[in-house]
Amino acid sequence: MESIVTVNQTDIYNDWNYLHEHGETAFKEVNTTKYLAKRLREMGAPFELFDNMTGMIVTLGSGSPMIGIRSDIDALKQTYNGKMGIFHSCGHDAHMSVVLALVQYFVNNPEELKGTLKVIFQPAEETVTGAEKVIKSEKLPHLDVLYGLHVTPESEVKAKEAQPMLEAAATRTLWLTIRGKAAHAGTPQLGANVIDAFTELNEKLRSIKLKTDLPYSVTTTMVHAGESSNIVPDYGTFAIDFRTRTNELMDILQQKIFDAIDNVQKREIKIAVDGNDLSPASIPSEKANSVMRNAIERVLGKEGVVPPKPNQGGDDFHFYAYDGLASESTMLGLGCNLKPGLHIPGMTFEKSSMIDGAKIMIEAVKSTQQEFN
Ligand SMILES: [Zn+2]
Repeated sequence: MESIVTVNQTDIYNDWNYLHEHGETAFKEVNTTKYLAKRLREMGAPFELFDNMTGMIVTLGSGSPMIGIRSDIDALKQTYNGKMGIFHSCGHDAHMSVVLALVQYFVNNPEELKGTLKVIFQPAEETVTGAEKVIKSEKLPHLDVLYGLHVTPESEVKAKEAQPMLEAAATRTLWLTIRGKAAHAGTPQLGANVIDAFTELNEKLRSIKLKTDLPYSVTTTMVHAGESSNIVPDYGTFAIDFRTRTNELMDILQQKIFDAIDNVQKREIKIAVDGNDLSPASIPSEKANSVMRNAIERVLGKEGVVPPKPNQGGDDFHFYAYDGLASESTMLGLGCNLKPGLHIPGMTFEKSSMIDGAKIMIEAVKSTQQEFN
């Protein structure tokens, strides 16, 4: 059945124009939050701000299922044409505009909302810290399903096409400090050289093998050690980036890396973990994917559905399912002829794809109860 959903195009373009020109970085989305609040008040959509944090949660409807929609709201500080600025080069301005249109739709058509809708305008996606703060705020009930969306580069999906799921890898970064014992370069046996220990560790990292056919990687991406050419260095820092297709493999890989670290800690060599940043992999959901696939079909036709394929990008959206707050989840990959790529200032996309995106997300919400009850 073809979609008969209509959305206010002028509103979407106006919202995008404002939000695009007023990008703000993680946890500083103050004017963005003000703008969203103003728009939600105009619509008569009830919302709750977070305590001491940007963003908000809108609540519409009642009963079950409990349906979540998440839009990220932050932009990136970058240099473009020789000037430093804050740019919505990841398209979160488009996500907000689409989700505002969705809220307006269900305010206008409450009878079409079966269940409760929780719309999360989430800060700080780019620093991969916002989702966990939203979860810890305890302002959200358990969600039966959570939907998100992301504009997707043209190389993967074109305008008038969409993927029912953006498949994200699990990525983790470890920040480490290594300490040894200084000595004169002429008597290295009296010291503990952190460069030697690091070299040994790096060899071990490079020989890690997982029993899987899925791709994974372990990469040392930073190393700093040594101050003087005639002293055995006793202090250094380094970082390891590692990625897997699934969260289970991430746990196994992390254990192997910690084992390797333990292995080189001997005598005076000590390694401390200063930071451990995770972005979980998407957790595939049959039900959520099928809702989203059908929604795409109703709006863009069968030919508009592009099957999911592994994606390089991570998104803190996946924390909601990873932490158990959402039973099922999926992120729509919205085609919009996006060029040349995400996180590139000056990135452009087909604005009318936001209309398609809003319709798809609305269709997904409308049909959720059927699939989930
Ligand atoms: Zn993004």
